[in-house]
Amino acid sequence: MDALRDEAGRRETPAAAAARAGQTAGQDAARRRDRAVRAAVAQGLLDSEPLVCLLDTAGIRASAAALTAAFDAVTAPGTPVLHAFAAKAAPLVPVLRLLAGCGLGCEVASPGELALARAAGIPAARIVLDSPAKTAGELREALALGITVNADNHQELERLDALVAAAPGGPVRSPVGVRVNPQTGAGSIDALSTATATAKFGIALRDPGARERLVRACLDRPWLTRLHAHSGSQGLPLPLIAEGVRELHALAEEINAAAGHRRIDTLDIGGGLPVNFASDEHTPTYAEYAGALREAVPALFDGSYGLVTEFGRSLLAKHGTVLARVEYTKTAGGRRIALTHAGVQVATRTVYAPAAWPLRILAYDAKGTPKTGPPVAQDVAGPACFAGDLLATARELPELAPGDLVALPDTGAYFFTAHYGYNSLPRPSVHGFTADAAGTVRFALARPAQTEAELVAEAGGDRGDALL
Ligand SMILES: *Cc1c(COP(=O)(O)O)cnc(C)c1O
Repeated sequence: MDALRDEAGRRETPAAAAARAGQTAGQDAARRRDRAVRAAVAQGLLDSEPLVCLLDTAGIRASAAALTAAFDAVTAPGTPVLHAFAAKAAPLVPVLRLLAGCGLGCEVASPGELALARAAGIPAARIVLDSPAKTAGELREALALGITVNADNHQELERLDALVAAAPGGPVRSPVGVRVNPQTGAGSIDALSTATATAKFGIALRDPGARERLVRACLDRPWLTRLHAHSGSQGLPLPLIAEGVRELHALAEEINAAAGHRRIDTLDIGGGLPVNFASDEHTPTYAEYAGALREAVPALFDGSYGLVTEFGRSLLAKHGTVLARVEYTKTAGGRRIALTHAGVQVATRTVYAPAAWPLRILAYDAKGTPKTGPPVAQDVAGPACFAGDLLATARELPELAPGDLVALPDTGAYFFTAHYGYNSLPRPSVHGFTADAAGTVRFALARPAQTEAELVAEAGGDRGDALL
């Protein structure tokens, strides 16, 4: 194994180097976050809203660069690799454009997400459409645009047969693939495990007769040139992800052997790198992921196949922070409770499934300085009108007081970007931030807060008489 040297000049394995890089990235990010919280208060971000969301632009860029570098380090020169950011993790046009500037494409799974990718200016050749329930209209549009389509099932392939046959001007430009469920098993979160025996996604590979039928379906369709697998999100150990990719590669080799040529030319290996919600450390790293794949499927990177990845959470999660004011504090039944403005609307999974989605909570004073003081068990509650709207129960934190702030780190993916409209609570504003060498923090509004007028309009405000 090639050895690197750490800061003290000792020999270090690539895995150790990757782990250390993940630690350093986390420490830097934590410093930037503290500065941003202080600056958010000083610059008045919380004056008009009790809740704002922050995105660390430098951190996002660093994660995109780490992903690209991890694959560059293991792929044969000249191998086409597209890293398509899974839009559902952070469906914000400025985020998609930032990542496009870092060389990434976009994976979309609904007409809305496709519209966002197009609004961000992502070229069709860098957009991948996955979704288990694409309408005929969506498929037709995708083929007309030339974006990549991954079919979910045999019925969808039959729909594509008709569209391909009817395509004006000859063969479709869109690369077309088919999603496979390797049925390799679940991770620790059932709702996010897509490679179980009975998962709803893709063609189940291990069902009786399924593999033969799928190989035949590929041989019958010269335009079907890609295979796709995504084994799940969060909670999947690296070896399980790697096993799914190994199954995908083996299937491609089998199809190509049966075809007598390289019919399958590209493997889309999905996303799903888990994120560490327990501390600031970035772990596992993309370098560790690429290493695990190289170990499990050495031929994956030899240049025989182009590669597509679809990471979402691991690119964004660590770079988002919800910042909310504590409005009141009280006790009930001997329990201390802090009533804040962050709850189910920005942390839906944490509130409904707290065991699977625990979040760290950081306490700051009214000026945005980290609070110190002996830890006291407190419930941290949100603003919604149901008893379960709690970010944490009996969490040990310095005692919170009205006017203090709580921050929820690691919420850059699937939290405030997946707003839940309970109680007509508005979507909060999202601000990107950067800090210069002198530590001056600059904010850029990436999404304004939803206004009351917008809330009313989206609630049928202009058709108040509709049901009379
Ligand atoms: C959600 C999803 C992803 C992204 O998963 P992450 O865990 O956010 O990396 C990628 N591909 C598909 C098909 C998905 O549904």
